[in-house]
Amino acid sequence: MTLRLSQRVLDGLPSLSATLGRLVRAALPASCALCGRDASDGLCAVCAARYFGQAAARCRQCGLAVMTSVTGVTGITVASARCGACLAHSPSFDATIVASEYAAPADQLVLGLKFGAQLALAPLLARLLRDSVLRADAEMQAHGLPELITAVPLGANRLASRGFNQALEIARPLSRALGIPLMPRLMLRLRDTLPQSRLSPAQRKHNVEHAFTLTPAGIDAVRGRHVGMVDDVMTTGDTLDEVAATLKRFGARRVTNLVFARTAPRPATVQDAYVANRRTACFT
Ligand SMILES: [Zn+2]
Ligand SMILES: [Zn+2]
Repeated sequence: MTLRLSQRVLDGLPSLSATLGRLVRAALPASCALCGRDASDGLCAVCAARYFGQAAARCRQCGLAVMTSVTGVTGITVASARCGACLAHSPSFDATIVASEYAAPADQLVLGLKFGAQLALAPLLARLLRDSVLRADAEMQAHGLPELITAVPLGANRLASRGFNQALEIARPLSRALGIPLMPRLMLRLRDTLPQSRLSPAQRKHNVEHAFTLTPAGIDAVRGRHVGMVDDVMTTGDTLDEVAATLKRFGARRVTNLVFARTAPRPATVQDAYVANRRTACFT
C-alpha cells in the first residue's frame, strides 16, 4: 500500500526523483538541503537569504500573499491587514504565520519530508517557521505567543500507511525552539478525508466537515487558551478552518496557524482579491 501510494506520487511529480536524490545527499548533516553546499545547520547562508530572507506581505488571518503594498496603499501595518476573502467570510482561526510560499525550492523540503520520509528535514522546517514567528512582531505584541502547540492530526489509515505525521514532526522541534508546550494528542481526525487537492472548492468544505474532535485531555487543555496549530502546507485553508472551528467549539480563546508553506493564490483569486481590495479598501 505504501509503495503503491509512493509510486503514484512519484508518477505525478516527475521532478521529485531528482529532488529526492538531492535531498538524500542534503540529509548529510553538514550540507545545505537545497543546494548541497557546506552548511552547518541544514541551510547555507546563500539559500537562507535568497529563499527565506524576506517576509512577504500576507493576510494576517489566512497567510495568503497579497500583491498590493498594504502599507503603501492604506498606511497601515502589514501585520494588521486582512484580505478581502477573510473580511467577507472570516475563518475560524485568528491568525496564520507562514515561513514560505509553497513554491520551488521550498516545496522540495515539504515533499522530501512528507513523501520521501526525510524526517531529518523537520527540524530545519521548524527553525524557518520559528524565525517567521519571531519576525511577526506586531502579531506577537498584540496577542502573544500561543500557550500550547499541537499539529493537525492525520486519519488512522493515512498515519498507518505513511508511518508518521509530518505536521507533528515539525511541531516537536518548533515547540522546543519557542519554549511552548506541545500536546501531540490534543485532537483526533475522526475519519480519513480525501486529499483536498483532488476536490472542487464546493467539495472541500464538505470533505472536512465534522472530521475532527478533541481528546478528553485536549478538552481540558484548550478552554480559554491560545492554541498554535502546526501544519506543513496550507492550501485553501478549509481543513485549518474546520480544525479551528472545532477548537473554538470546545472553548479555545484564540487559534494561530503555524504553517511552513502557503500555496500562492491562483491568478483569478489574486485578481479577484485585488479588485475587491480596490473596490472596498478592505485591508483593515
Ligand atoms: Zn544552499
Ligand atoms: Zn485572508
